[in-house]
Amino acid sequence: MRLEAGGQLQLQCQRCMQDFGWDLATNSLVYIARNVAELDLWDRQADGLEDAVLADSQFDWFAWLEDELLLSLPAAPIHRAEICPTDRTTQQASQPNPFAVLATLKQHQKLKS
Ligand SMILES: [Zn+2]
Repeated sequence: MRLEAGGQLQLQCQRCMQDFGWDLATNSLVYIARNVAELDLWDRQADGLEDAVLADSQFDWFAWLEDELLLSLPAAPIHRAEICPTDRTTQQASQPNPFAVLATLKQHQKLKS
């Protein structure tokens, strides 16, 4: 079976947290096995780009399709660097220093002693 899916999704940029359009385009070939022996055969023959599934009466096609589409998404979606409104260096500079609270505690200790 060949799975082809396409369309535009709204993802959130993990750098600037703004939504942006991302073009989904997936095209994969899946071998459908009727039993375990056939699944083993397809698994041995399929190369890294192809997949084999055991499509018995328990097989959940919707869950499988959902997994295939989720796996085609980027793990950390970000704008292309030239269009992302947030520069990584300014974002890092604006984040609070996690050790700032230690400096505050140190100042309190000096005042008490
Ligand atoms: Zn961005």
